[in-house]
Amino acid sequence: MNLRSLPDRKPFLTAALALVTLAALAAAAISAEPRAKDLFGAKKLPAVVPAQSFGFYSKGCFAGGVALPMEGPTWQVMRPSRNRRWGHPAMIALIEKLSRDAAADGWPGLLVGDVSQPRGGPMMTGHASHQIGLDADIWLTPMPKRPLTIAQRESMSATLMVDEKTHLVKDALWTPAHTRLLKRAASYPEVERILVNPGIKKELCDTVTGDRSWLRKIRPFWGHDYHFHMRIGCQPGSPGCKGQEATPADDGCGKPLAWWFTEEPWRPNKNPDAPKARDLMTMANLPKECQAVLAATDAPSLAAVTYQGGSTAAVAVAEPQPTEPAETISSGTLPAQASAFAPTPKIGIPLPRPRPGN
Ligand SMILES: [Zn+2]
Repeated sequence: MNLRSLPDRKPFLTAALALVTLAALAAAAISAEPRAKDLFGAKKLPAVVPAQSFGFYSKGCFAGGVALPMEGPTWQVMRPSRNRRWGHPAMIALIEKLSRDAAADGWPGLLVGDVSQPRGGPMMTGHASHQIGLDADIWLTPMPKRPLTIAQRESMSATLMVDEKTHLVKDALWTPAHTRLLKRAASYPEVERILVNPGIKKELCDTVTGDRSWLRKIRPFWGHDYHFHMRIGCQPGSPGCKGQEATPADDGCGKPLAWWFTEEPWRPNKNPDAPKARDLMTMANLPKECQAVLAATDAPSLAAVTYQGGSTAAVAVAEPQPTEPAETISSGTLPAQASAFAPTPKIGIPLPRPRPGN
């Protein structure tokens, strides 16, 4: 820099410095605002209040959550140290029901991955969604006959069902029992969509005969090659819950699926280090009710809020109230990272592939 030019440039420099200072202050103010994922991630228990979801699957929280017991005759919770076995009571009841129905269908039992945090909200790692207690990940690995120890549940790997190069299901691993499990999950009216790897969707499209109506709910998405993701709709008593637009009525085996077998969805992420929504979200980004959800007093004990077939003493279930039809969010209003909600993702940046349990 030519020093002599400084006097002339001074007004400019002063203005520029002022702008820089302002920007730094704004950045400091933003970073001083606690991140919602830290606040929700720190909660070990829900409060004992009527169950209610607030906001959207990828931007919300929920009250009155209950825990899926660590194990039952037909399920075991995996990665228990994450403390993500919490859900809306309707979700937890449905996981237990699926485990029983699947066992009757010949599936040995469910290995259950992440549901939600005790009060939902964004998570420290993984998952854009799972925030309102209405999403659950279930492994595509059958439950072993012997109960797993806690250490085994932390370390056991799930089975990768899809060839990462061809994006096709590994023939040696996929069985009719896998298909029956997904069909059973899709059969429940509460279940609105099930996310699976495109290879799994294709396998179903290519092999399911007879009733194919349930294929409508099976939605292809990145990852989901070790587990499937079951999403239920907004439950009665949650007027602040925002539903997702319905899946198209057809089986989804045509053009939208073919897109997944082009190169486009698999191009490397050009900006892998860009912050994710969860890294930026503060309480201001969540429904205002989430502040109260966060502030509510902890349940007296874990036992008090562990689901026991609907008879849990302290679990308060909201009376269904007549409500306006839930507001729905269309995929167009969501950021690219929430494109799990788009029928076919717009041209965009593939998400990082979730690893087992994500
Ligand atoms: Zn999931």
